[in-house]
Amino acid sequence: MKNIAYYNGKTGPIEEMTVPMNDRACYFGDGVYDATCVVNHVPMAFDDHIDRIYRSAKMIDIDIPMEKAEMKRILQGLVDQVEGDCHMLYWQVTRGVGMRNHPYKGAQSGPSLWAFVKPQVMRDVFGAYKCVTVEDTRFLHCNIKTINLLPAVMANQKAEAAGCDEAIFHRGERVTECSHSNVHIITNGTLKTAPADNLILPGITRAHILKICEKVGIPVVEAPFTIEEMMRADEVFFSSSSALTCRIKEIDGKPVGMKDEKTFAMIRDAYQAELEAECGKRK
Ligand code: PLP
Repeated sequence: MKNIAYYNGKTGPIEEMTVPMNDRACYFGDGVYDATCVVNHVPMAFDDHIDRIYRSAKMIDIDIPMEKAEMKRILQGLVDQVEGDCHMLYWQVTRGVGMRNHPYKGAQSGPSLWAFVKPQVMRDVFGAYKCVTVEDTRFLHCNIKTINLLPAVMANQKAEAAGCDEAIFHRGERVTECSHSNVHIITNGTLKTAPADNLILPGITRAHILKICEKVGIPVVEAPFTIEEMMRADEVFFSSSSALTCRIKEIDGKPVGMKDEKTFAMIRDAYQAELEAECGKRK
């Protein structure tokens, strides 16, 4: 099987799966999701992602009616059925199925679990990427990984239309994160990244990067930084479970970073080593 999808116990090829129209995902985007890369049928940082979806669900008052181990077992069962060695595992929990109504107590079926596994080509971590900046018009709960992604979709489309790879969000002068990754800068050998408050998603890759920095002795400042600071930083890079660590060479058509490869490479290589230790070598 090349890909597989799952909805509340039913499985099949993604293209053939259907879901009930009254699932609250359709009307309200009423749910949370998580995703990670899968190498050699091993989902990277699986427990971290499982923990995060339970946290996200709790923050929007969804009580997932299964143990974490059971969710993991279902997802691993899907991963095991697909051919190939590099995939994306995506899953979401929505509040459930019920006649459209804003209040959610009472009339729902109980949470729905959706998932799919599809082949994924990973970005080249030795490449250098282009970004655009976009005003961050998302809401004030960006720490919750909800399926309400319209501003991120619009921003990412803007990046693609400009021939770029990612959109960097800012609220006024303050850089927050990207449309589907976190962004970090390196200046004078110090890594600076936005604090994990309600304006960014606390990325699992970001958390791993912070631990790596501690291990290899790169000082870290978790504090807001400005567009101007980013434009003159020695290095700028984005991180996510699918992009891993991607160096940025151009923002809004202007050259940036690319001045401290040594520090960036320490982070990139240590993260690649973690991926390899957990999932094995990529073929
Ligand atoms: N920020 C946003 C808005 C995201 O959507 C993502 C990933 O989907 C990330 C950051 C990176 O998170 P992670 O490293 O857990 O993949």
